[in-house]
Amino acid sequence: MNVREITAKFAQDEDCLKYIQEMRWPDGIVRCPQCGCKEVTRVERTVAKRGKNRRGWFFLCGEKTCRNQFTPTSGTLFHDTHLPLIVWFHAIALMLNAKKGISAVQLQRDLGIGGYKTAWYLNHRIREAMREGALPLMGGIVEIDETYLGGKQRGHEGKLKNKDLVMGLRQRQGPVRYIKANDRSAQTWQRIIAQNLKDAEVQYVMTDESSSARSVLKHTGKHRMVRHSIGEYVRGFVHTNSVESAFSLLKRGLIGSFHQISIKHLQKYLNEFSYRFNRRNDPDAFIETVRRLCGFPPLPFDTLTSEQA
Ligand SMILES: [Zn+2]
Repeated sequence: MNVREITAKFAQDEDCLKYIQEMRWPDGIVRCPQCGCKEVTRVERTVAKRGKNRRGWFFLCGEKTCRNQFTPTSGTLFHDTHLPLIVWFHAIALMLNAKKGISAVQLQRDLGIGGYKTAWYLNHRIREAMREGALPLMGGIVEIDETYLGGKQRGHEGKLKNKDLVMGLRQRQGPVRYIKANDRSAQTWQRIIAQNLKDAEVQYVMTDESSSARSVLKHTGKHRMVRHSIGEYVRGFVHTNSVESAFSLLKRGLIGSFHQISIKHLQKYLNEFSYRFNRRNDPDAFIETVRRLCGFPPLPFDTLTSEQA
């Protein structure tokens, strides 16, 4: 969904709340998050009791020993937010649709958010939801490349700082993954390959002339290499163009939108970029991201709508 579609679908905060409620209880039966009781009543707050940051209503658990008061956002990443939910929804759409990412400053401007800190926090919480858990191992043709973020250091091999070295892996016609690496040693290559590739399902691994790649992969018989040093970029089906095109988007995003990324957060930014890249043609990316913010496992849109029917 793009921002225009979000605006059309969610006119008010109450619409967003309803959407979250449907996601949280897809069968339509609201359950108390504390005791699981299904006897829940909706209580309207009197106008006098509606504070600035309080919703106009809440659910009250009917279990006598519990009597928990809650709303659909209770206990989720939206919990206790001072921002209207519609601002959240717009921010999610902006982050998903901006190919090169969007900075907190830009979010602040686009959404008219009062303070930079608020925008930064919002940016980070949505990024948190874009952190993928265990990912399936890669197979088929896998391209692997390494890059240093921040172009200045190129050409000074001896002085390279390892702090911004990133390994990129991309299954051809498939997902990409970025991993912050401490160095470009054979050991590091070995570890990253072992953690991300399914040996039996790998057909070929494509790299450039990295000596580490050679030493790790030479025994497998599956290694194919392009020799950039002699100006060779494609030799039949041997190339690393898929991972390089993903890298170039990452680099332009990190240089363009973010002046300085704290190294502490680098992997989170890398995850955001791969999350977005891997869903660039997925019409359910928005709903999946909202579900993640609610702390629930992703549910395909089809399943959700069929459960409601
Ligand atoms: Zn309860």
